[in-house]
Amino acid sequence: MANFKTLDDLGDIKGKRALVRVDLNVPMADGRVSDATRLKAIIPTVSELADKGAKILLLAHFGRPKGAKHSELSLSMIVEKLSEILNKEVMFVAEMAGPVVQQSVEILADGDVAVLENSRFNAGEESNDIALAKAVAANGDFYVNDAFSAAHRAHVTTAGLAHLLPSYAGRTMEAELKALNIALGAPQHPVAAVVGGAKVSSKLDVLQHLVTKVDHLIIGGGMANTFLAARGIKVGKSLCEHDLTDTAEEILEAADAANCTVHLPYDVVVAKEFRANPPVRTVNVHEVGEDDMILDVGPAAVEALADVLKICKTLVWNGPMGAFEIEPFDMATVSLARTAAALTKEGSLLSVAGGGDTVAALAHAGAKDDFTFVSTAGGAFLEWMEGKDLPGVQALEI
Ligand code: AMP
Repeated sequence: MANFKTLDDLGDIKGKRALVRVDLNVPMADGRVSDATRLKAIIPTVSELADKGAKILLLAHFGRPKGAKHSELSLSMIVEKLSEILNKEVMFVAEMAGPVVQQSVEILADGDVAVLENSRFNAGEESNDIALAKAVAANGDFYVNDAFSAAHRAHVTTAGLAHLLPSYAGRTMEAELKALNIALGAPQHPVAAVVGGAKVSSKLDVLQHLVTKVDHLIIGGGMANTFLAARGIKVGKSLCEHDLTDTAEEILEAADAANCTVHLPYDVVVAKEFRANPPVRTVNVHEVGEDDMILDVGPAAVEALADVLKICKTLVWNGPMGAFEIEPFDMATVSLARTAAALTKEGSLLSVAGGGDTVAALAHAGAKDDFTFVSTAGGAFLEWMEGKDLPGVQALEI
């Protein structure tokens, strides 16, 4: 694993100004934070820095203002909730750089916390503009990155600052990098990967990388249909990227060459309509009718997949096995997630999952808390599964 400094490497930081990149990009409903999971994730780093007497300036983006000020995307909206979660007063500063920030830092006491305005209100943030990076860095003595979810971007607040100031991984970033490294960097074999979700096209790089890394690749969700079609199986009206069957075939060949066993469903749950509780049939993949839609992996395949997980030591999971938002097409996802959770609890499996839909699916299955590690990062988690170097992580390397 890449080597990076953590908060353990900080010396005396009493009175020092800490620029801390966090993920405050929370969902809102009616002007209020509707899910505070990401806010809670910053508690370990912020509390530790506050206890050590640093003056903490939080940096984060919110939505996609694309370099211009949009009052409806101001981080001022989350200050009240953040203050409640951190159990301390949080100051809001309406700029990210310049004299307003400097004056605000001067009135902060040791251990105080301020949130600087949405980093993406600045045109230079996403282009990693050096002048903006220098202006932000001028108000800090050191930089901490605790936002793994933004680490696939080379922006001022995720990468640029790390080149200008002494830099450290925050506690949540550190935990995430360690968990991901254990799961794919230096895993215990056999390793299984579950890759599901709608389309092959959005996860081509993931699949191509995983076949070289894992012993068992379990393909579910809509994307399995493209693989079934590549094998000459008729998938009726199912979601299927027929133009990608050659690519799917290439992935299967690459898997063969790398000794990776690919598991495709051999029974499936089909319906003629995409709605809750329509008439459904469970059929062998060779019996899918012309007007059928495959909406979930069938119970026999799920049982066989559970047996695969039982012989594995490590599991990486992204994407649901079926259209899990609509009953009864959540069955395969729920069942396999519960098996993985139980094996993890028993101690025979290390399980890492990530991606927005995946977190929702595991939560729906009641399995989320029993996984070894669940990453709420979407894009960054997928790029990590693709084997890519993440600029925000690279910038922390020593
Ligand atoms: P992704 O964002 O690529 O992980 O895709 C997640 C979406 O894939 C979810 O909204 C699922 O409902 C959908 N999905 C999974 N399996 C199927 C399927 N067999 N047919 C259609 N959609 C599916």
